[in-house]
Amino acid sequence: MADTILVTRSSMPTLEEYMDEIKTMWDSHWLTNMGPKHKQLQAELCDYMGVENIDLFTNGHMAIELTLQAMNLQGEVITTPFTFASTTHAIVRNGLEPVFCDIDPVTFTMDVEKLESLITDRTCAIMPVHVYGNVCNIEEIERIAHKYELKVIYDACHTFGETYKGEGIGSFGDASCFSFHATKAFNSIEGGAVTFKDKSLGMKLYELKNFGIHGPEEVDAVGANAKMNEFCAAMGLCNLRHLETEIAKRQKVAERYRSHLEGVEGLQLNIVQPEVKSNYAYFPVVFEEKVFGASRAEVFDALAEQGIGARKYFYPLTNTFSAFHGKYNVMETPVALHVSKRVLTLPMYADLALEDVDRICELILSCRK
Ligand SMILES: *Cc1c(COP(=O)(O)O)cnc(C)c1O
Repeated sequence: MADTILVTRSSMPTLEEYMDEIKTMWDSHWLTNMGPKHKQLQAELCDYMGVENIDLFTNGHMAIELTLQAMNLQGEVITTPFTFASTTHAIVRNGLEPVFCDIDPVTFTMDVEKLESLITDRTCAIMPVHVYGNVCNIEEIERIAHKYELKVIYDACHTFGETYKGEGIGSFGDASCFSFHATKAFNSIEGGAVTFKDKSLGMKLYELKNFGIHGPEEVDAVGANAKMNEFCAAMGLCNLRHLETEIAKRQKVAERYRSHLEGVEGLQLNIVQPEVKSNYAYFPVVFEEKVFGASRAEVFDALAEQGIGARKYFYPLTNTFSAFHGKYNVMETPVALHVSKRVLTLPMYADLALEDVDRICELILSCRK
């Protein structure tokens, strides 16, 4: 059997480059609490992302959770169930109620046609997700949010490094939250960030990630501990140097997949959004069993048998989690349900060999009965 291929493989600098980056820490003994690496990464990210305000966190989840807390929200947050557990959990852990909007069958992001009817007098915010790096219908979301005076917080964890109409993806909404987890297109081992418009939100975020400590003798919020440490920031600095090369390699992988799978009946590939500079973070395929001739489960098993890891991502939907004890009605999001039962994300990382992509596609196509 050929070597195992996992669904993703973390980008890393050479050991020498990382050692060089962390060397100064042996002089300073400054390991965490917004040290020089943290500051430098923050500045470089502002530059790279084309945003004015950013704060760094220990992970993407705490970035989302503390952003909601910093906004002091109450009531209902409209979101989608076709996402990672984190999005919904951040809402619930803040004592807010998630209200699930269905997704668009092409972009897999919030279906804005269905958004307005979900707004009640208890709605305080909208939390859409830029799924697989597909950018939400930003204009329509902003229009509706403005009309009803709602906050918009994007779960932008899949879109690091992207631009929309030439602007950094972190410049939309009141805030956008990013993840720098090892499995993401850009990683700082674990890490996260929030980009935001209002500078006063930044002050609250800064406090909340450090226990709500306002000054040496004052704690004015019930914060958490969500500071990015210096080793993670150093990894981020190294990986950022190579990010454009990594994305270019991912693009080659995506193009190779497309050369085999585009136009195959019963397969829905991710759309290419003309005004988006993509980061090629994921390669999702939706399998329509009756047309394609094999189910998602059959393809998943056939790949697994050859040591190839695809992922049922996102499955199950967050509104079906047993953690919520049947509180939400999955039939209210039929498109999300349909897609979640049929989608697989295929292996995708910068160093995935194109010959392996050929092999994966051959295997997928050979599943047809
Ligand atoms: C990865 C991810 C998160 C959480 O990020 P972590 O850094 O793992 O905490 C949240 N939302 C989405 C959509 C993600 O993909």
